[in-house]
Amino acid sequence: MKASVVDGIGAGFTLRDVDIDAPRGSEVLVDVRACGLCHSDLSIATMGLGYEFPIVLGHELAGVVAAVGSDVVGVRAGDHVVGSLLQFCGRCVDCLSGKTFRCRYPEATARGAGEPPRLSMAGTPVGQMNGLGGFAQQALVHERQLAVVPEELPFAVAALLGCGVLTGAGAVLNTAKVQAGESVVVIGCGGVGLNAVNGARLAGAGAIIAIDLQREKLDRARAFGATHTVDAASGDPVAEVTRLTGGADHVFDFVGASAVTRQALEMVGKGGGLYLIGLGADDAVLEVDTVEMLTRQLHVHGVWMGSSTLPRDIPLYASMYLQGRIELDGLVSREIALHEIGKGYEALRDPSVARVVVTDLS
Ligand SMILES: [Zn+2]
Ligand SMILES: [Zn+2]
Repeated sequence: MKASVVDGIGAGFTLRDVDIDAPRGSEVLVDVRACGLCHSDLSIATMGLGYEFPIVLGHELAGVVAAVGSDVVGVRAGDHVVGSLLQFCGRCVDCLSGKTFRCRYPEATARGAGEPPRLSMAGTPVGQMNGLGGFAQQALVHERQLAVVPEELPFAVAALLGCGVLTGAGAVLNTAKVQAGESVVVIGCGGVGLNAVNGARLAGAGAIIAIDLQREKLDRARAFGATHTVDAASGDPVAEVTRLTGGADHVFDFVGASAVTRQALEMVGKGGGLYLIGLGADDAVLEVDTVEMLTRQLHVHGVWMGSSTLPRDIPLYASMYLQGRIELDGLVSREIALHEIGKGYEALRDPSVARVVVTDLS
């Protein structure tokens, strides 16, 4: 089968013939129909981030089940599925407590050291990003990393559920548990931040304030349901949020740069929370005045994959989309072919582009 392979750090994406093994045990062979381009894939391709090469990236995948291993119970051939990089063992105390996003043994979804690789080129093993490898015609994935979705869901939309939607909407609904009427601030209105706007709308948030530096992104946030937008390039976002809310109940930082995160904390009202989701800079720090934290009764929460439970949340967002209760069509700005991934990432620099999705896998 054809796959877009990254041979080494900075080597870019190259279409190659890759051998894929038959499913064993709890594995599922998926015919990929769509895979979104997420920023994390590009970060691995350009910086490595501890991954081994060659590797097939792509972790926002949707497709149709072609075959299943002998131990698979929840997925059948022909099912439409969405993959997620959320890997969990299903047996540790966190998994058994319903917190699979805190699993202690995520590697339990990978093949053991003595087993042949899932992917290879002329006998050389090829890695898969977090057990997925969606930039390919087929993917061999552990059953626990897949959720079944309705067949009427378009593949390009379905693909986005596994990362951007799960992370953005999940931060609001699962981590912060936003209540009806509460105020929400979303800083950074890219593909993930827009899904926090979706989540805030579903939760019935009162004010939904979107902040960004780019006009196009703010316009899109308003189309997704933001009640107010603040252009951080032309004003003081802290003063504006304080004027609108008196201090927000929940502030979601999708940027992750020191200066932005500090401003985000200043926007939080008494008893409110700051949620850290963005990975903009790997040296970002947040200095806090402990007396201020105490007297304002603030909490700061690091969020991983929207504190999501895959088999519950993916079908939930799919049905909310099909009922017209969340906006996802506006996220799919451009559809490309498997050999165009490098160009697709270039297109993402344009602020008018929300998400690029591979849908031509011929
Ligand atoms: Zn992602
Ligand atoms: Zn576990």
